[in-house]
Amino acid sequence: MKALLSVKDLRVNFYTSAGIVKAVDGISFEIAKKEIFALVGESGCGKSTTALAIMRLVPYPGKIVGGKILFKNKNLLEATGEEMTQIRGKEISMIFQNPLTSLNPVYRVGHQVAEAIVLDNIPKRKAWKKVIELFKNVKIPDAEERAYSYPHELSGGMRQRVMIGMMISREPSLIIADEPTTALDVTIQAQIIKLLSELRDTLETSILLITHDFGVVAELADRIAVMYAGKIVEMGNVYQIFENPLHPYTGMLIDALPRITKKEGRLEEIPGSVPNLINPPSGCRFHPRCPLKKEVCSTEEPSLVEVERGHFVACHLYGGGKA
Ligand code: SF4
Repeated sequence: MKALLSVKDLRVNFYTSAGIVKAVDGISFEIAKKEIFALVGESGCGKSTTALAIMRLVPYPGKIVGGKILFKNKNLLEATGEEMTQIRGKEISMIFQNPLTSLNPVYRVGHQVAEAIVLDNIPKRKAWKKVIELFKNVKIPDAEERAYSYPHELSGGMRQRVMIGMMISREPSLIIADEPTTALDVTIQAQIIKLLSELRDTLETSILLITHDFGVVAELADRIAVMYAGKIVEMGNVYQIFENPLHPYTGMLIDALPRITKKEGRLEEIPGSVPNLINPPSGCRFHPRCPLKKEVCSTEEPSLVEVERGHFVACHLYGGGKA
């Protein structure tokens, strides 16, 4: 697989008054051209921090303290501030959960998208034409008219389409979509998922999907990495993860998915909560919540091992060994 993005042993700490939070603790993964790769896990597992680290936008008091982020073979951690400004938006763009916080309430949405396009030295009139074309591409009905709307005049789904239009306006090679459907209702979610999938095919872009929602992952992703407490605990293609989940945490996340075929009325829930990363549990970080834990689990940290081609797991049940 020729990687467009290769994250190697990435580490991000937050230096808080209560202590050092190791939010991302040595994770590695690759994303190929045209691939949709999902980072999945509960809130606080480090997935959004990973996305911000790729953009070099980790907020204070956070700091990238180790690893490499190779994008088109260039280590972004060594790029200058000016180089990163060029890369953000042009080469890598990011779609956030709530488009209202990313759109300026006092400007018409079409003008906001045109502003991004003129950065590529495209004359204003041409940029406006491109805005309309983009709005049609992201399936905004009455695109010419909607381009003159203010953000508050559009529904949540339409605003997310505007944001996606803005993010693809400079034809990035990689889109980072951080919980892109979480704030939307179910029908609109399905439309946005379909749109992202179509854009991958038409624009040949890669997508890093950040989500807590295994349902979205099942619809969209080619490959998946499951994160827990700052680490990747399982990684594989969508079939390996859904048909043969190996890590107990992955299995529990999948069991928590609502299914039409489920006979019982109640959804499974994962007992306990994500650990405090200032002082994480010893050994396997999941052991306080794991129904299958063994003695070794609380003392030795399992390393990520490949159990079948392309399918990795960090668990002593599969010979995780010492990390
Ligand atoms: Fe559970 Fe042990 Fe595997 Fe951790 S290493 S997931 S505690 S069985």
